Amino acid sequence: MAPLLDLCDPALAERFDNRFVRELPADPLRRDVPRPVRNACYSRVEPAPVAAPRLLAWSDAVGALLGLARPASATAASVEVLAGNRVLPGMQPYAARYGGHQFGNWAGQLGDGRATTLVELIGADGRHHELQLKGAGRTPYSRHADGRAVLRSSLREFLCSEAMHHLGVPTTRALSLVATGEPVERDMFYDGNAKDEPGAIVCRVAPSFLRFGNFQIHGAHDETEELQRLADHAIAAHFPQLGAPSPEVYAQWFAEICRRTARMVAEWMRVGFVHGVMNTDNMSILGLTIDYGPYGWLERYDPDWTPNTTDAQMRRYCFGRQPAIAQWNLLRLAEALLPLIPNHADLEAGLREFGRTFAIASNRITADKLGLVAIDESDEALLDDLETLLPQAAVDMTLFYRRLADLPADQAADDLDDESLLAPLRCAFYEGDDAGARLLPWLRRYLDRVRLDTEPAAARRARMNRANPKYVPRNYLAQLAIDAAELGDTTVLERLMKVLEHPYDEQPEHEDLAARQPEWARNKAGCSALSCSS
Ligand code: AMP
Ligand code: MG
Repeated sequence: MAPLLDLCDPALAERFDNRFVRELPADPLRRDVPRPVRNACYSRVEPAPVAAPRLLAWSDAVGALLGLARPASATAASVEVLAGNRVLPGMQPYAARYGGHQFGNWAGQLGDGRATTLVELIGADGRHHELQLKGAGRTPYSRHADGRAVLRSSLREFLCSEAMHHLGVPTTRALSLVATGEPVERDMFYDGNAKDEPGAIVCRVAPSFLRFGNFQIHGAHDETEELQRLADHAIAAHFPQLGAPSPEVYAQWFAEICRRTARMVAEWMRVGFVHGVMNTDNMSILGLTIDYGPYGWLERYDPDWTPNTTDAQMRRYCFGRQPAIAQWNLLRLAEALLPLIPNHADLEAGLREFGRTFAIASNRITADKLGLVAIDESDEALLDDLETLLPQAAVDMTLFYRRLADLPADQAADDLDDESLLAPLRCAFYEGDDAGARLLPWLRRYLDRVRLDTEPAAARRARMNRANPKYVPRNYLAQLAIDAAELGDTTVLERLMKVLEHPYDEQPEHEDLAARQPEWARNKAGCSALSCSS
């Protein structure tokens, strides 16, 4: 393997290749004042320097992917780059232009209001990776906001995007978390209690941060030429296997976006992730989980749950609705692509791919989570009943599925007393054994069903443990890491990141990080309720 280079090593510039900037139409103005931009895919911007950057966290895994060495110190020259204080020769920073449907309504131009892509870097894998600073200052897309981000939300993005990767969920990645040394004023719950919070910048990494909204903005303004150029760029850069653009290729491309989105959402449902703000500007055309804001992890199993207080009434983006919302978003993308794919039947065929792919993925996932070789219509009642019982029994989703593998499946169900059925699951019960005991008849039926399969117990258990993580970045754990980091202690974050690199492994010395939500966290800000303020 080639040696890791420092971000400031001049030799690295050979691996800079700014395809997006080179190939696509730019906003001719260079001023960063908020304004409507037309007929352009992006605006060139300069990140705004911050007072006193300090490296708080670094992902060695992403560093290795990019061929980048960890900065030599918390204030090294490379940290200045990761803070936006220094732009290296060969970097061409820009903010992308996009629009989006927010909570069901077309919101017009949004764009990278505080994200600045520094460069496309060819990584150790020979592929292009966008390095994007989130919180790097105002751009033409900032509207009335400050272009900055607070430490709590930046840490949450850094932690969760890496955790998702290790869980096997398609996601953007994060290279670094840098404290800016500057305060950022936020009114966390929009209730008139604004206060200064520490600022931070995450360097996010993805092959592309293109969203449905990047295409929608051209569709909304009849910018067909720009729409086509952006689609051609996206296909050539990220879907080269589809070949030279044509109406058929655009249709195949849309179908592929539908499939990838379906797989992504199926994975969210597997691990209990709630995105929180599935607006079309937060949907990646690569099928990656993108824009970590008021996301959350389902602890108490409840399909209606969302951590986002802004959505507390409608629950548009609650856990159980995520597949339907993804499909609704794809429909909006389809509308934007109509000038390129005039045949409605092609778009409808693409959308059907969403349903088909989601059904296949979800079927496989359900079978794996329950340790069944396969599931079919005859299992429907068993599955439906579980869906009804889990909220009634007040169980922790992650612990319940993980511990299901510990049930004594080799004994005949009739011989099993209640205690031996409930014991493995006890740690998952939020309301104690009485509520948990509602599961007993279902557990007996389930074990009867398991015994119909002939798969050896060890293989079945291993398969379940690969589908059911032991460790997820629970909301309260992220909050503990934030509380410590705000006091200058990053050890809580570091330990969590290390454990979450192997979320499917038993790590007995870290058992405390697998525990269900403690009582103190039940109604605490950041642990159960989050806002879009970030
Ligand atoms: P989000 O809800 O974070 O996906 O953001 C929606 C839109 O608001 C995007 O265009 C963001 O770039 C923009 N935005 C969010 N926060 C800020 C901020 N502090 N400064 C400027 N723009 C922002
Ligand atoms: Mg966003």
